[in-house]
Amino acid sequence: MSDYVNVTELFGCDVFNDAVMEERLPKKVYKELKKTIEEGKELSLEVADVVAHEMKEWAIEKGATHYSHWFQPLTGVTAEKHDAFITAPKENGKVLMSFSGKELIKGESDASSFPSGGLRATFEARGYTAWDCTSPAFVRHDAAGGTLCIPTAFCSYTGEALDQKTPLLRSMEAINTQSLRLLRLFGNTTSKKVTPSVGAEQEYFLIDKEKWLQRKDLIYTGRTLFGAMPPKGQEMDDHYLGTIRQRISAYMKEVNEECWKLGVTAKTQHNEVAPAQHELAPIYAPVNIAADHNQIMMRILKKVASRHGMRCLLHEKPFAGVNGSGKHNNWSLTTDDGINLLDPGKTPHENIQFLLVLTCILKAVDTHADLLRESAADVGNDQRLGGNEAPPAVISVFLGEQLGDVLDQLISTGTATHSKKGTILETGVKTLPDFMKDATDRNRTSPFAFTGNKFEFRMVGSRDSISECNVVLNTIAAEAFKEACDRLEQADDFEMAVHDLIKEYAIEHQRIVFNGNGYAPEWAEEAKRRGLPNLPSMVDAIPALTTEKAVKLFEEFHVFTQTELESRAEIQYEIYAKAVNIEAKTMIDIATKQIIPAVIRYTTVLADSVNTVRAVGDIDISVQLELLKKCSALLKVTNSAMKNLSDVVSKVSEIPEGRERAVYCKDVVCKAMEELRTPVDELEMLVDKSMWPMPSYGDLIFEV
Ligand code: ADP
Ligand code: MG
Repeated sequence: MSDYVNVTELFGCDVFNDAVMEERLPKKVYKELKKTIEEGKELSLEVADVVAHEMKEWAIEKGATHYSHWFQPLTGVTAEKHDAFITAPKENGKVLMSFSGKELIKGESDASSFPSGGLRATFEARGYTAWDCTSPAFVRHDAAGGTLCIPTAFCSYTGEALDQKTPLLRSMEAINTQSLRLLRLFGNTTSKKVTPSVGAEQEYFLIDKEKWLQRKDLIYTGRTLFGAMPPKGQEMDDHYLGTIRQRISAYMKEVNEECWKLGVTAKTQHNEVAPAQHELAPIYAPVNIAADHNQIMMRILKKVASRHGMRCLLHEKPFAGVNGSGKHNNWSLTTDDGINLLDPGKTPHENIQFLLVLTCILKAVDTHADLLRESAADVGNDQRLGGNEAPPAVISVFLGEQLGDVLDQLISTGTATHSKKGTILETGVKTLPDFMKDATDRNRTSPFAFTGNKFEFRMVGSRDSISECNVVLNTIAAEAFKEACDRLEQADDFEMAVHDLIKEYAIEHQRIVFNGNGYAPEWAEEAKRRGLPNLPSMVDAIPALTTEKAVKLFEEFHVFTQTELESRAEIQYEIYAKAVNIEAKTMIDIATKQIIPAVIRYTTVLADSVNTVRAVGDIDISVQLELLKKCSALLKVTNSAMKNLSDVVSKVSEIPEGRERAVYCKDVVCKAMEELRTPVDELEMLVDKSMWPMPSYGDLIFEV
């Protein structure tokens, strides 16, 4: 069979992973490198030289001609600069292939064109990339040939983080230190390291490339800016987990194979709720690797789509009125010897360590709900949060029946004495086995849901990096653990002290727990009564980065300096304003060059037909006239909305950059965009389809 795939052979075949290193590196060098990877020991240049040489030899065998420091600047996408392995020609005119330890561990990159939020003036262009040896290098094959990609962090000349990875690695150190302290208090002397584990479920849309090419809005902005709902949306729920069509299956097969080659554990795939929407989830991994793998996965999803004559849309809300796409971030804390700190066991009420961890997390999320919300802020997510199937913009925690009940016992009596058990689910069919239900059902409306032995943060946008939310999760948990340990380490009677602390946290932070329907409008009201922040827009969320509380938190754990936080806030405002500006200009472009001319053509046809029919004699032309009137009226509304939008957009550059400009874009530009969309979508429902200048929603999502 030609398309037989031996997955075990394929998996990781293009990765310089542990097995390859053990096989190819001299024993001593391998051991030294492992120490760096596992214990964070500094890597000497001699060791790096040997590793680099072997890595290069291996990469060349895999067909690589170039190497690249692969990094994640704050643009939202990955960046890379390619260098061939060749050295200057020898006297005989030949070149050698070389790659030194220095080239492996440090790269210099002209950083002036990356967002820095004022951290660097453009003339101070130096930026450095540094090898993150905890995330393996890999050889990527594409039209450029083979490229050895080295995952790196990206910092400025003065050491400030200019990327997503650096703070993530810093936050991993913070949570490791504080988790170990907590474990030691409970008598654990064996675990050496605690790592946040993350599995990021990736949602995406697939549409036909030919149709994509006819939609300027998709090309320039990643989402549709106009589009009337087709007669059918997702109301029948017939796409979710439906049979996957052959074209899509062939695509998924290739995506999986490409992922596997690069060591990405693509595991679960299915159709999602909206037509043309799908999901791919890997097996969870240490968070820095999960973050790198998610970037690789997004790239593969896009690349393979073009090979199949399709386009993969990663935007959070490509189509209004149907589900948006997210990236559910499943997060837990795991020790090197396999203990999951978030595993409640069968009887959570007796698991004091778990209850402490849990109540600390409640405290962390309650205290820093604004930061967690901010971590999912992304221009596209503004369209999604609170929309179909997306969690609302209010942060709350879903615990479920079992843990909710344990928490209630703690709050009311101070002690939890029992845990609700899962009951038997009777199928009612003799030939089917009855089975045990989980003690807790799931809640898909909660932004932060406990799901058995992990938390699922469902707010992250499909296009966004998962780094930001995990930086926040790791750091706020580290802070809560630290504050608990500070008190418990001083306690004379540990048992009493921990009991009191759990109760105190449970009572103080119970307002963050919400097990009901997060989509219900009543919840927004209830959340307000509870004093929980509701930050519907990215622009509302950004200030959370620079509050006194946030600065204290991130500085204490050396995750961000105040300057870095301020620069990040600046970058966010800048990105927001630029993105809205591009969307507005795209709307103007489409309205002027495509929609208005099309409607004029159609109304001309109608008018001609009125005259022609009238000439024939006494025939009823009321329908033509009615349509003509309606379309002409809407055309007028469209034209003035378009003029208003142009006017509003032309003023953007006059507004001072930063927060002020972002607020203007949100309040004024976005509103003007909506006012233009409404009449155009109405026109789409009236105008002859053959004259409408672009594929409809129906064409895009039902005919892939
Ligand atoms: P669902 O869509 O039902 O939530 P999926 O199987 O699509 O579930 O995704 C669940 C994700 O959670 C997977 O990436 C999985 O590897 C990950 N996961 C499972 N257990 C853990 C854990 N202990 N810590 C972190 N992630 C986990
Ligand atoms: Mg899933």
